[in-house]
Amino acid sequence: MSTRIVIAGLAAARGMALGRARLEQPSQPVIDRRPLAEGEVEGEAIRLTIALATARDELRQLRTKLHGALAREVGEFIDAHSLILEDPELTSGLYDLVRKGRYRASAALQMQRDRLAAAFDALDDPYLRSRREDIDHVIGRVQAVLMRDTTPAERQIASRVGEILVSDTIAPAELAHLTEHGVLGVITTGGSALSHSAILARSMRLPMVVGAHDALKRLGDDDLVLVDGSHGEVIVHPTAQDLARYRQFQRDQTRSTEALLRLKHARTLTTDGSEIQLYANAEMSADIVQARAFGALGVGLYRTEFLFLQRRELPDEEEQFNAYREVVLGMGGLPVTIRTLDLGADKIDSTGVAMSREPNPALGVRGIRLSMANPAMFETQLRAILRAASFGRVRILVPMVTTCEEVVAARRLIDDCARRLRSSGHEITDHFEFGAMIEVPAAAIALPSMIRHLDFVAIGTNDLTQYTLAVDRGNDALSTLYDPLHPAVLKLLAQTIATVQRSKKTVTLCGEMAGEPRYTALLLALGLTSFSMHPSSLLEVRQAIARCDRAALRRQGAGLLRAQTRVGIERIVKRMNK
Ligand code: PEP
Ligand code: MG
Repeated sequence: MSTRIVIAGLAAARGMALGRARLEQPSQPVIDRRPLAEGEVEGEAIRLTIALATARDELRQLRTKLHGALAREVGEFIDAHSLILEDPELTSGLYDLVRKGRYRASAALQMQRDRLAAAFDALDDPYLRSRREDIDHVIGRVQAVLMRDTTPAERQIASRVGEILVSDTIAPAELAHLTEHGVLGVITTGGSALSHSAILARSMRLPMVVGAHDALKRLGDDDLVLVDGSHGEVIVHPTAQDLARYRQFQRDQTRSTEALLRLKHARTLTTDGSEIQLYANAEMSADIVQARAFGALGVGLYRTEFLFLQRRELPDEEEQFNAYREVVLGMGGLPVTIRTLDLGADKIDSTGVAMSREPNPALGVRGIRLSMANPAMFETQLRAILRAASFGRVRILVPMVTTCEEVVAARRLIDDCARRLRSSGHEITDHFEFGAMIEVPAAAIALPSMIRHLDFVAIGTNDLTQYTLAVDRGNDALSTLYDPLHPAVLKLLAQTIATVQRSKKTVTLCGEMAGEPRYTALLLALGLTSFSMHPSSLLEVRQAIARCDRAALRRQGAGLLRAQTRVGIERIVKRMNK
């Protein structure tokens, strides 16, 4: 019987998942540095051979599970890793270390890793240099095989359920493919609940715990593990009571889903009859299907950066046009807000366009700044969006705006692109709306002078909170400081909503707050009437709105803005949520 272990982390994506642990890149493999006795050498060489063969075999199996576009994208990585494992330079070096140097397999692997990493670090080509990570993944995989130490009985139960990925960190692009790999939950030792990966996990309904610092040390491959993404807890070797709690969670889940599904085609009304607009945030085609199914009034935020991730070349105009047109057609005439590229900060691509080596990427060449610095790339995207706009109602949204000049320049570029497209024979509508994300405090403060250049505004509270409070949204050490209920954030929100509404334009909030039912009443109190969220939150927010009296909440808005402390604000929000 294995002993139950509880590892505390931060709740990043709600829900529970039971599965067997799959360790990615064990950050600290147990390295046995005692030299081998002469009689142990051949046995250790055999252990190494078995570990290498197992790792190769696992990659092969993983490859066969992939289908369609996944097989192409993820398959490339797997092939690259398999090639590294076959590389005689790596393997013969390992056997030399074991046979001649009397190193144990784990120590030999570590030495080879360090040697190869140093060779990669010396390369000039940044892409090749970044491939050093592949070496780490491959060596980590073999180390994990060597370290595997679970009872056969447990392995038998575990083989019946899917996998829980355990890793140091996880990039949004990697996460996007996980569920199709049979991954049921994710645990990371670092990261924050506000990272793009966590946002994506929530949108995929993939339970996730981040900042579980000890997870890689205390978990082994194939350990049976229960991820509690609602409480930020990881339970290794769960007991019968834990499993009963998990089954209860599954039953509750089914029941609340049934209740929510009854709201699918309902209007979004407060108790006093105000109609509230609910839009969907989208990244992939599944989001569009869900947005339609749950009655979204359109797409309030289509993040285009996911087209640019995990690839070496930029997507060309045709590829982008096809992707955007698919979304526009998928929404069947409802408005689609396409945000231009927001690469940079934690959304780093491998095409080399975003400056991943900036000293301070969150304050660096990100969003509209990056697009303006790469006019050819920006124009390609704008042309693709404008062409897609002929197939439905498109609104163009630019991210990370700081100045009026950026807004004016972006608008001019769009008009130029439209003119050039028209003169080359394309039917381009002149009925597209142009908007800016308000997510930099300077833009929120300067909005009264910027608004005349805009048709609509989208508030990005994820970044607005990060930049107002000077708290990195991806840093788990600061997770308690990252607080969208900070009085300064609430003031900027109220001010932005009021400025846009005064000018009779539309304002939608599309940060994570919009999809959190516990913030619904608060946002209505601040005057918000248009929300955009991952489609999986639409029904819950509609249900929360149906419990709110908008007029009564509006009367409490001023008190909310007068509150000086977090405790004071929380007290008011609690009252509103009763
Ligand atoms: C935001 O910042 O709130 C937002 C919606 O954009 P992203 O999370 O993509 O930065
Ligand atoms: Mg943002």
